Amino acid sequence: MHLMAIAPVFSVVVPVYNEGVVLRNLEQRLSRVLESLGKPYEVIFVDDGSKDESPAVLRQLVQSRSAYRLILFSKNFGHQAAVTAGVDAAAGDAVVVIDADLQDPPELIPQLAARWQEGYDVVYAVRMARKGESLFKRTTASIFYRGLRLLTTLELPLDTGDFRLMSRQAATALTGLRERHRFIRGMVAWLGFRQTGVPYVREPRAGGETKYSIRKMVALAADAIFSFSAFPLQLASYFGLISAAISFGALVYVLYIRIFTAAAITGWASVMAALAFIGSIQLLTLGIIGSYIARIYDEVRQRPIYIIASRYGFAEEGSDDSQTSSGRARGV
Ligand code: UDP
Ligand code: MG
Repeated sequence: MHLMAIAPVFSVVVPVYNEGVVLRNLEQRLSRVLESLGKPYEVIFVDDGSKDESPAVLRQLVQSRSAYRLILFSKNFGHQAAVTAGVDAAAGDAVVVIDADLQDPPELIPQLAARWQEGYDVVYAVRMARKGESLFKRTTASIFYRGLRLLTTLELPLDTGDFRLMSRQAATALTGLRERHRFIRGMVAWLGFRQTGVPYVREPRAGGETKYSIRKMVALAADAIFSFSAFPLQLASYFGLISAAISFGALVYVLYIRIFTAAAITGWASVMAALAFIGSIQLLTLGIIGSYIARIYDEVRQRPIYIIASRYGFAEEGSDDSQTSSGRARGV
């Protein structure tokens, strides 16, 4: 197995979900870049319950390269959980998180590393342009990140994803945040330390389709808002104030008509409209409160963020390297 493992300087974490077609290409580009840095490194693939050939391809890679490691999840836990598992397992002085689909060019890693060597703790990659992504995705992302900045006090850098380098100190701090609903780029911004960005052009996928369904995108956006802002909870108060002001005006008007004219206001339509309006606002705000309660429930249950089915290529596991039980999941 592994003779005297050398402590890695760079750990590269790659979340993988059904990326079989791009993995060999990724491995080649990643290895070339990492070799050029001239420092010991490790690459940790986290297979997030892939249903394609990814686990088989990754096991082969891990067998042929001693610097490669693999964590297999027991099912699909999501991108943010996969990144978490990789960062938890990383031993390097600098931890880089990169997508598997080559939208994040590995060739940018030396630039991220250079800023880290200057003393920055978090170096995120800033998307100057996004190639091969739909107008819908670009527009919704742009509106979302700008909106999120208005709703929270978070210093969230615009146009960044999870492609970034973290110092050991920042990575360890992130590992200490065990919340279940994770919006990692927000959590890293929240950590503080010295942070800076490096611009890059986001390439189209090297192969395959996006693994972020609309549902997963909406879930991530909801996690971002609900974990970093209490503003939606305050909406009920704002709606209440506005509707109180309107009803007061309406009351004055109704009394005025009744007292100073012979007529009285009749109208089923106006009553129904007001009723339906108030009713729907109440349901909406109840739903918002429900979303927070569901998240509180998830957090208090204290379930692990992910469950590991097996790990390969990690030195400390010695000869039974190939099979470990989920009970051995570290740092969960
Ligand atoms: N991914 C994952 N689990 C998921 C969805 C995605 O590990 O449930 C991985 C995926 O394999 C890729 C990264 O997360 O390495 C980003 O996903 P994708 O490229 O599909 O997202 P997009 O770039 O379209 O936003
Ligand atoms: Mg992608």
